[in-house]
Amino acid sequence: MIEVRNLVKRYGTHLAVDHLSFTVEKGQIYGFLGPNGAGKSTTMNIMTGYLGATEGEVLINGHNILEEPEEAKKCIGYLPEMPPLYLEMRVREYMDFAAELKKIPKKERKSAVEQAMKMVKLTDVENRLIKNLSKGYKQRVGLAQAILGFPEIIILDEPTVGLDPKQIIEIRELIRELAKEHTVILSSHILAEIQEVCDYIMIISGGKLVASDTPENLEKLLEGQRSVEILAKGTEDKVRMILKSIPEVKSADVKPGEEGGTTKASVIPTENQDIRENVFRAFAGADCPLLMLYHSRTTLEDVFLELTQKESAAAKQTESKTEEDDLWDEDNVWDDEELYEGEEESGDGGDL
Ligand code: ADP
Ligand code: MG
Repeated sequence: MIEVRNLVKRYGTHLAVDHLSFTVEKGQIYGFLGPNGAGKSTTMNIMTGYLGATEGEVLINGHNILEEPEEAKKCIGYLPEMPPLYLEMRVREYMDFAAELKKIPKKERKSAVEQAMKMVKLTDVENRLIKNLSKGYKQRVGLAQAILGFPEIIILDEPTVGLDPKQIIEIRELIRELAKEHTVILSSHILAEIQEVCDYIMIISGGKLVASDTPENLEKLLEGQRSVEILAKGTEDKVRMILKSIPEVKSADVKPGEEGGTTKASVIPTENQDIRENVFRAFAGADCPLLMLYHSRTTLEDVFLELTQKESAAAKQTESKTEEDDLWDEDNVWDDEELYEGEEESGDGGDL
């Protein structure tokens, strides 16, 4: 349905999209997930023909977006990061105008506009000026424009940015509804957004596709390395010796504990198995008290953090991080500004 081959986009010397290739099949919800600046909007702008690529090509239902833009664009509805709304127009007027631009045949226009407005619940405000609408309603106008004429593929760039939680839930429901008959691609820098609605996740970092799979498979990706974390009362040498004696242990990262006389270790099993009991018995047998023993949990968030951090670390080659930093970084990953945007906006004219 969509084929992206070896896409490269350079802004001057800056490589924003770095040899990206993927395919999108019919009838699924795809999520582009990546931190700010990962290259999501650039990729979407190229896929929809708004921006030329430096290298590579995009085929939409077999039509090259550059060579046959009209044919290709006919299959796509796009909500850009900043939808081009005409603020002085009334909602209905703008929709009619968008229908004209999309070359929807004259006799179908009225019903197409009405259908799109109904779907995103805009009908009540059809006679209001766009400039007087709240952020949530403006977003709906952008969405209505994107789904107008019900193209096969609907591409939404950060559709929930700046919306309050209730509006986010509504947009999510709308996306699910759309996905019944359309292929939907949406982007977000927030994992929960993508995890909630997408059948397939593409993680982008530094302009590269670092992983693409179902949410379940992405979690499994790291599960193979699921470790057991321990804190023991004893020297590092002793802990190492005991761990070496356990056949199910593949490797271990052993370090001094915070408390004097203690040692902590992150233990990787030979296969993806639960070795907590083996570890417990070995330490008990060696008369070395375990003060703590737990399985490290793998979540999609870990996968996302691991993949995007690896990528940005490799790209920047800045100072190397300690493991503690990695643990504590989780809270700092989300861009604070974006996180609070919804709250700032919530005072601008009520509900939606
Ligand atoms: P995302 O949507 O994932 O946040 P973008 O595609 O907007 O990322 O940006 C990717 C990278 O390209 C960023 O480093 C950004 O600063 C840079 N970039 C985006 N647009 C331009 C532009 N018009 N000129 C120069 N650099 C740009
Ligand atoms: Mg973006």
